[in-house]
Amino acid sequence: MCKKDIKSMSVNELKGLAAAYGEKPFRAKQLYEWMHKKLASSYEEMTNLPKAFREKLERDLPYLCLEALEVQVSKLDGTRKYLFRLPDGNVIESVLMKYHHGNSVCISSQVGCRMGCRFCASTIGGWTRNLSPGEMLDQIYRIQTLSGERVSNIVIMGTGEPMDNYDNVLDFLHMISDEQGLNISQRNITVSTCGIVPKIRQLAGEKLQITLAISLHASTDEKRKELMPIAYKYTMGELLDAVKDYYRETGRRITFEYSLVAGKNDTEEDARLLADKIRGLNCHVNLIPVNPIKERDFRQSDKNDIELFKNKLEKYGINVTIRREMGRDIDGACGQLRKSYLEREI
Ligand code: SAH
Repeated sequence: MCKKDIKSMSVNELKGLAAAYGEKPFRAKQLYEWMHKKLASSYEEMTNLPKAFREKLERDLPYLCLEALEVQVSKLDGTRKYLFRLPDGNVIESVLMKYHHGNSVCISSQVGCRMGCRFCASTIGGWTRNLSPGEMLDQIYRIQTLSGERVSNIVIMGTGEPMDNYDNVLDFLHMISDEQGLNISQRNITVSTCGIVPKIRQLAGEKLQITLAISLHASTDEKRKELMPIAYKYTMGELLDAVKDYYRETGRRITFEYSLVAGKNDTEEDARLLADKIRGLNCHVNLIPVNPIKERDFRQSDKNDIELFKNKLEKYGINVTIRREMGRDIDGACGQLRKSYLEREI
């Protein structure tokens, strides 16, 4: 049996663990607090736990703590990109972005990704494995500890498809918003998906207050298929029906992400077709000028085309923002830092 890492365990599971070592149940709460509130980076720091207990844990259940291999700091806006090493040697990346409303961390949910979106660097090396809840939590814990900045917002928009690692992502969401832990409001958490319809429906039933972001990126099924293989599995009609149900169940406004690729999805006609599909839904469109990756020849739309696209959507009464580019001077798009690291290692 594959053992759960200690940071992925609930208080109840920790109680079982304490009992197995002949320790009182209250030790579980202490352990949980050290890991999830005080953000301890070793058992050694947990000074109110008996030394012998700590040593046994160290021996049997090595403490999960990600190691920062590289940190890149943007001179333009203070954005920080972290490359973390996992206990099994795999590497992942996470980003800290500073906004006036608070600090936001973008975390990875998998090592690699198998969704195959054409413009995305994270998917080029394929999928290696899912991240555990503890490995997702620790990206935030380490960033808060290393940077000294309090994290108030979280987006699951790094490498990986969160709905392809559903159970672990769900545990993560409960733990990060837990009063016994960092207690980050679910309203400040966004989960971004390429659109795995049955999982969106399942998520709707969990009664969470998180924001759901849907990577749409196209105005028709045909165009979406050219950019995102998932479009062969679920039509935009099916996806938007699930999204409407999600809104009905949770009352949470939906975000649509739309990466603008020159000559592929950025005409005013695309804007009109998109507006037709999402009009009437309580939603918001986030336009992202595509971040070119060297493996593909996708280009960013001209500034002028982006403005025209935005204006057209607004004319149809849709809320639109253009995503501010953060950290332009450091390895830009999702998965690029990890990829460049892996290429250097070979
Ligand atoms: N798998 C999830 C979350 C990770 S990607 C999803 O698909 O939503 C986070 C967002 O960044 C998605 O909207 C994704 O389509 C977008 N993205 C990925 N690579 C990009 C690039 N090179 N330029 C612009 N957006 C990109």
